[in-house]
Amino acid sequence: MLRSKMFALLSVFLLSISWEATSDLDHENFLHCLLNHSQPSYPISTAIYTPNNESYSSVLQSYIRNLRFNMSTTPKPLLILTALHESHVQAAISYAREHNLQMKIRSGGHDYEGVSYVSDVPFFVLDMFNLRSIDVDVASETAWIQVGATLGEVYYRVSEKSQAHGFPASVEPTVGVGGHFGGGGYGNMMRKYGLSVDNIIDAKMVDVKGRLLDRKSMGEDLFWVSSPNFG
Ligand SMILES: Cc1cc2nc3c(=O)[nH]c(=O)nc-3n(C[C@H](O)[C@H](O)[C@H](O)COP(=O)(O)OP(=O)(O)OC[C@H]3O[C@@H](n4cnc5c(N)ncnc54)[C@H](O)[C@@H]3O)c2cc1C
Repeated sequence: MLRSKMFALLSVFLLSISWEATSDLDHENFLHCLLNHSQPSYPISTAIYTPNNESYSSVLQSYIRNLRFNMSTTPKPLLILTALHESHVQAAISYAREHNLQMKIRSGGHDYEGVSYVSDVPFFVLDMFNLRSIDVDVASETAWIQVGATLGEVYYRVSEKSQAHGFPASVEPTVGVGGHFGGGGYGNMMRKYGLSVDNIIDAKMVDVKGRLLDRKSMGEDLFWVSSPNFG
């Protein structure tokens, strides 16, 4: 029988970002700018997939959960950035902002309307699936969870460390932490423990200026207002 819940610390969420889109994207320029914005110690080039890359389609399709949006007529991103480090998220935001390009953020890809990977205007996808570490600390009853993890992975990692702990979220194991916690997150433990978002006690977040913030540096007001609105 479950005796206790855990609290979650989250990394990396993003404030919703959308700028006027531009249509005259030059791939070379885009890549060049991303490289300029990233830190040399965390090379970004291996995280970038353009339509010229043979893995582009499989990377795009692997987190399209609603097959209605996996058609040849579905608008495709100009590129996919599969962030490998927090600095890549910062680089993507800085670039999108500088060039007024729309950025879509995808964690588990379970959005019913495909809004994390489809748009009517030119866009690129910041894909979070590589950022999926889960670090459980039973002594403090907390876990740092990266947003690219799935709920099933969270439950599994918690159960590896403790048979008496759990985390309040959906029963659907393939749903992504990023979108789920951002939208609130309800599940079987809700009556006793509330929503997923009620159990988040810290978060690392990149803001529109590309700054990496945690609860302390963002301040209580922003932490409070962001928690239910991350998605
Ligand atoms: C089969 C199924 C079962 C479900 N069951 C439940 C349930 O039991 N309880 C419940 O509460 N919900 C449930 N949902 C809804 C689900 O929680 C939401 O659709 C959730 O947004 C999916 O998150 P995702 O990361 O998988 O999706 P994504 O498509 O990756 O993201 C969803 C939204 O969040 C945004 N987003 C994703 N990652 C980030 C990030 N890191 N920073 C900022 N924004 C981000 C995206 O841009 C998009 O707008 C279910 C959905 C499905 C398809």
